[in-house]
Amino acid sequence: MQTPQARYNFEFGMPARKRSWAEPFKIKVVEPVRLTTPEQRRAAIAEAGYNTFLLRSEDVYIDLLTDSGTSAMSDWQWAGMMLGDEAYAGSRNFYHLEAAIQKHYGYRYVIPTHQGRGAEHILSRALIHPGDVIPGNMYFTTTRLHQELAGGRFVDVIIPEAHDPESPHPFKGNVDLERLEEVIREHGASRIPYLSIATSVNMAGGQPISLGNLRAVRDLADRHGIRIMHDATRVAENAYFIQQREPGQEGRPIAEIVREICSLTDGCTMSAKKDALVNIGGFLAVNDREIYEEARNLVVVYEGLHTYGGMSGRDMEAVARGIEESLHDDHIRARVGQVLYLGYKIRAAGVPIVEPIGGHGVFLDAKRFLPHVPREQYPAQALAAAIYLDSGVRSMERGTVSAGRNPQTGEENRPKLELVRLTIPRRVYTQAHMDVVAESVEAVFGERDNIRGLKMVYEPRYLRFFQARFEPA
Ligand SMILES: *Cc1c(COP(=O)(O)O)cnc(C)c1O
Repeated sequence: MQTPQARYNFEFGMPARKRSWAEPFKIKVVEPVRLTTPEQRRAAIAEAGYNTFLLRSEDVYIDLLTDSGTSAMSDWQWAGMMLGDEAYAGSRNFYHLEAAIQKHYGYRYVIPTHQGRGAEHILSRALIHPGDVIPGNMYFTTTRLHQELAGGRFVDVIIPEAHDPESPHPFKGNVDLERLEEVIREHGASRIPYLSIATSVNMAGGQPISLGNLRAVRDLADRHGIRIMHDATRVAENAYFIQQREPGQEGRPIAEIVREICSLTDGCTMSAKKDALVNIGGFLAVNDREIYEEARNLVVVYEGLHTYGGMSGRDMEAVARGIEESLHDDHIRARVGQVLYLGYKIRAAGVPIVEPIGGHGVFLDAKRFLPHVPREQYPAQALAAAIYLDSGVRSMERGTVSAGRNPQTGEENRPKLELVRLTIPRRVYTQAHMDVVAESVEAVFGERDNIRGLKMVYEPRYLRFFQARFEPA
């Protein structure tokens, strides 16, 4: 058994003798944060209906709700913001963005959108017909909803290890190839508009897919004439794990691995708010001319003209530069390294977490953390509220509430994983912030017997986790 420190050194390819390394940037602008009193937090979480999405950001000390749009931009990105060409049509920044996507991801045609779900909406409308089936390596909330709204049905074909928080499998984002074959045999390739393949699978805990598995998926898809659409939101983080864990890939530049991943797929949807280090933005990119034409028709209806798609010129410039920065090896090592640092600290305190630690956050296993709270009382939701109460650290539920209901039967989906996600924004917090978070989680773990479950008192129709309200059960 390796100690966390030994493993730490091992994972970073460093000699056993301790030599620390630090973030590959220095801080030029700061934003004050406020530590609240326990009374203030009790009032705030009650007012928010025990849903951390409904808290005011002002009442949060360290905000680990999401890494979406919360990253810090670099001076180079901010400088690019001043070069925004705010023409309605044909902004020069669109062409910079298009060139960055073609160069780094290799897809031919680019449709900008306001964020990831805008791209998912357009892709789903363009390709899915009522009754279609879309196999994928675990669902994502907005991705699946757009597939369903277009009349399709998502079918999970991720390997079974992904549903087991204790399995140490290094590539829990892999596709179960036999299961995928079965799904294709059962429904027929003509009912499958595309395979929905995510890199760094969010809902499984930020778990990567291996290059080897993706190549095999490509072979299988080719044999049946099925397209692969890539959710590239966290492709750089996935590439980092490939570089660290996959035989034959060590030392290979991240940019090169990303390029190969993309070359194995036919297009992507992207939330630029994650890997690409911006506060807003996204795109759809495809290789097929016909799909591009259809998407270009749809984007003017739902997002904006095809050379801005809901983004301003300056936003597109920031995305173009963010894509470039996201592929620097020292950036991604520090980004994932900070997540691992927090994860090792929490694990060392005996707290049950999803193994292996993922690329964008540490996922607490609420089923093992709060075994006395029944699933009907939303243990992960209750745990996120308890952590906020302890320290003002904001996390989010990724369990029964996020999984929503089956659109056919109306029953609550009951995912195997019941998790609380501590998501780390990129380039925003320091190691001291991570220490404070780990200490708070440890303190809550010590008091876990006192945490009670919740009952849902308001349930929105779509993506209920964003706006649902709760009361103590
Ligand atoms: C965030 C995210 C999306 C949706 O993107 P938005 O920009 O939030 O609309 C889609 N897929 C994955 C994997 C994501 O993490």
